[in-house]
Amino acid sequence: MSLGTNTLRLDGKSIRTNDTLPVMNPATGEDVGRIPEAGPELVDQAVAAARHALTGPWRDMTPSERSAFLHRLADLVQAEADDLARLESTDNGKPLWASQVIDIPQVAELFRYNAGWCTKLHGDTIPPSWPGHTVWTAREPVGVVAQITPWNFPMMMAARNAAPALATGNTVILKPSELTSLTTLRLGELAEEAGFPPGVITVLPGRGEVTGAALAAHRDVDMVCFTGGQDAARSVVKASACNFKKLHMELGGKNPVIVFADADLDRAIPEIVGAAFSNAGQNCAAGTRVIVEQSIRDELVGRLADATGQMRVGAPTEENIEMGPLISSDHRDRVRSYIELGQSEGAELVVGGETSGPGYFLTPALLTNARPEMRFMREEIFGPVAGVMTFTDEEEATALANDTEYGLTASVWSENAGRAHRMAKSLQTGVVWLNCHNRFDVAVPFGGVKQSGHGRDHGLEAIMEFTSTKAVWLDHG
Ligand code: NAD
Repeated sequence: MSLGTNTLRLDGKSIRTNDTLPVMNPATGEDVGRIPEAGPELVDQAVAAARHALTGPWRDMTPSERSAFLHRLADLVQAEADDLARLESTDNGKPLWASQVIDIPQVAELFRYNAGWCTKLHGDTIPPSWPGHTVWTAREPVGVVAQITPWNFPMMMAARNAAPALATGNTVILKPSELTSLTTLRLGELAEEAGFPPGVITVLPGRGEVTGAALAAHRDVDMVCFTGGQDAARSVVKASACNFKKLHMELGGKNPVIVFADADLDRAIPEIVGAAFSNAGQNCAAGTRVIVEQSIRDELVGRLADATGQMRVGAPTEENIEMGPLISSDHRDRVRSYIELGQSEGAELVVGGETSGPGYFLTPALLTNARPEMRFMREEIFGPVAGVMTFTDEEEATALANDTEYGLTASVWSENAGRAHRMAKSLQTGVVWLNCHNRFDVAVPFGGVKQSGHGRDHGLEAIMEFTSTKAVWLDHG
């Protein structure tokens, strides 16, 4: 499998371009290939192809025919799952086992699950207060959907957006992160092999400020589905105003992990370490604010520090590693600077924070004596850095947890069922995990409130996001 080329596929044709970007292996820091960059002209062509495809055979297909395409794509992903996992880990740096066990199986599952929805969508009949009238509704595709995705779970994020959009009859233009485009490009090829008509799925690699910005500002794109950080999200929202695009925004998090004194710590410790540091902390759901009841603070910090210090960091194919490198040198510098910032703000680094090379490695870092006003406890770091602060009662725990502009996920650790229920109700997040963290399922809605975005991925909610309702009135005369 090649690591990128200077050719991209558009409307069933290959197009060569001189505009290319490097592909970097984050575990070695080496250039390992090049990918094309789609400038505004190619964006125009892709949008025209996607618009045309909306009105062609794709529109006229029966739901079960559409479903068959999604199943075929799932089959193709499964058939080359191991190659895809290797490609993902080379491009992103995550442990190979993680790509093999988490990312790529989830991609196949997303297409499989959403394939099932194609045949289950229907409208309603509504009795109107107008005598002699019948009203029914139909669920229709939104249209041309641009999907702009991040680098942390590259192929999974592409599939998470594309699968429900395709299941509901939209056409899709995928703009992967410029740092990790390889598996999304391969997904585009597999979609062609699966027989999707030209223009139904187009992959347009390129930088955010070039390709992403051109899509967000395009007047013939009907919807932007964006997963990423706040700065880019603000640009997308502003650009989308040109034609009032429908928006689906999945943004960041600064997720609390609330540990009560009655928690089962044997169960909680490994999960809290995983919450903070899995995917090298480059996870929107990462539990990076550990909020612990004062009376068990010392025990928790001691045990978390031991477990964190034992985490094995290494290159994706090394045996038994739990964490790979960070995505880039710049990102590692940024993450490291937050550790220093936390220390300068008065937090104490208990373990981790060591860099090594030639790849962009950083050992997971745990800081204590954190306070809610510290910047490292307020801003999304998107790396392996967690801080610990304390509370004395449930009310304070809730207030600390909710004291953030974000609202993506939270986890609560307690053996008291009543308390767990109360916390689930009072936490201002889109997802609450009770005695667990990082549980995801293609059928269970995922998304945030506050500045973590709006819209939901997974499940029926995602299907609804990509449809618009048409009401039809009949006057019987
Ligand atoms: P990012 O915002 O830098 O980039 C995301 C995507 O937006 C990339 O494809 C990028 O090229 C594009 N982009 C950048 N500037 C743009 C612009 N001006 N116009 C249009 N597109 C633009 O994010 P990232 O660094 O790739 O990913 C990290 C962020 O993603 C974190 O904040 C993380 O929390 C978030 N994230 C959220 C979820 C979720 O489900 N809520 C999932 C994964 C990642």
